[in-house]
Amino acid sequence: MISKELLDILACPECKGDLELKGNSGLLCKKCSLIYPIKDGIPVMLKEEAIFYRQEEGKR
Ligand SMILES: [Zn+2]
Repeated sequence: MISKELLDILACPECKGDLELKGNSGLLCKKCSLIYPIKDGIPVMLKEEAIFYRQEEGKR
């Protein structure tokens, strides 16, 4: 599990923005719509490893 202290230190490598914890499996950057996976409790802060996150937006 990622601690709040660690989450405060971590930032998106792309936009330096804040990250949001998505369960135990990843860290979401809302600006980039990318989820950085957490492997064995260690966040992988690499864009190559990140998963594209589809936000459900109702408006066009
Ligand atoms: Zn970002």
